[in-house]
Amino acid sequence: MDKEKVWKRALGELKDNVTPIAYETWIKPLGIRSIDEELNIVYIEFDEHEKNDMILRTIKNRYLPMIEDAIEGALGEHFRVVVKDVDTYRAEDIKRDQPKGKKTKRVKGLDMEKIFNPKFTFENFVVGGSNDLAYAASLAVSESPSEAYNPFFIYGGSGLGKTHLLNAIGIHALELNPDLNVLYVTSEMFTNEYIEAIKNKNMHDFNKKYRELDILLIDDIQFIEGKEKVQEEFFNTFNTLHNSNKQIIIASDRSPDKLINLQERLRTRFKWNLIVDIQPADYETRVAILNKKLSGLNFSVEENPEITEVINLIAEKVKDNVRELEGALTRVVSFSQLLHQELTVSFAKEKLKDIFTNIESTITPEKIKKEVCKYYNVKVSDIISQKKTNNIAFPRQVAMYLVREMTDFSFPNIGQLFGNRHYTTVMYAHEKIENEIKSDKNLKEVIKQIKENIMSF
Ligand code: ADP
Ligand code: MG
Repeated sequence: MDKEKVWKRALGELKDNVTPIAYETWIKPLGIRSIDEELNIVYIEFDEHEKNDMILRTIKNRYLPMIEDAIEGALGEHFRVVVKDVDTYRAEDIKRDQPKGKKTKRVKGLDMEKIFNPKFTFENFVVGGSNDLAYAASLAVSESPSEAYNPFFIYGGSGLGKTHLLNAIGIHALELNPDLNVLYVTSEMFTNEYIEAIKNKNMHDFNKKYRELDILLIDDIQFIEGKEKVQEEFFNTFNTLHNSNKQIIIASDRSPDKLINLQERLRTRFKWNLIVDIQPADYETRVAILNKKLSGLNFSVEENPEITEVINLIAEKVKDNVRELEGALTRVVSFSQLLHQELTVSFAKEKLKDIFTNIESTITPEKIKKEVCKYYNVKVSDIISQKKTNNIAFPRQVAMYLVREMTDFSFPNIGQLFGNRHYTTVMYAHEKIENEIKSDKNLKEVIKQIKENIMSF
């Protein structure tokens, strides 16, 4: 039974039963992973790399019966439908394959889709000042594996495109040379496979799998921190590959130096060649990412001119995480379709309220005080004390200014938070810093930096 054909037929029916945008949002990312003809089960996969429980739940709650009907129409008899995300299937596959000691197949052609998220390509990656170096280096590595930079280490905060770039490297390298043996794993998958291999006394196959690769892409390496045996195993894998001039690409949420619970010899190796970081995208890049995403959602600006304003709103509010940025957009677009309501700025504000308040509520006066003090190297107890020396008074004024700017606290409230000061003192501090920022470029940078620190977690 040709699953592609079955799915195509089912899609035809589904398309007639849902709105175009619901189709794009909920149905299109789905595909048939396999059909069990003995048990009459169709396994549907949800092709989003990051687990998104909200989306998965919506699909199951709202569309499962419809999908079952469509599949029944396509197959001519009733099949139970199971929906899971790609990662879950992948983890199950590894579990299933391991005990039997199944050999890894070469990663070619059809297998590619199993390993990589086909959406994470270089073409789909929006390049801006925050990630251009990471992008260029990734492209170079995928075009000349083992020659450009080896190992290649890429780090940055959550949701900034590390996994996307790792996938893009693998996909592009295979496009250029389908004979390459390429593997993408998270270090968690590596760990689980290693544990299974020990349990099943099957290190031979494990080693064979990992040590005969041309390109190893290992994601989220921070997971092996503090796991001595796994680090040892990875150290050996690393050496074997590197000694035979095979490409290793590592992604991490921190730089090697900040991976504190990592063996020194691994840290040294991670630093052997190129290390690049990805920073949060700037405003223009965020807008570009949203526009790109929007075109994928088949939603045109002509159809709704106010969407430009909505995009600006989201780009302004969601700064630190591209995943959340995209999530916010998907959310408002699909809600407006499902509720048959015009996508206006006020609609978007309403629907995104919890996302926004979530971000804003993590910004507390305590957090602001803490970050300001950390920057100026003074104690929090000092800036709420009555001390008036300049090295204390200035950070205090900066902190007051930032609390006013970044929270909803009133001047009198802020006065109370800083050792019961009169609200006019806070107003004065606020005005003073505001003016100084205008004339002092240096201070402007410092404030920006502190703001970023405040918002970074
Ligand atoms: P990380 O691995 O750094 O946590 P991901 O690579 O999973 O982040 O990215 C999160 C989401 O944001 C993905 O859907 C990815 O496609 C998207 N994304 C991140 N950066 C970009 C970018 N520069 N252009 C387009 N999409 C991006
Ligand atoms: Mg990732």
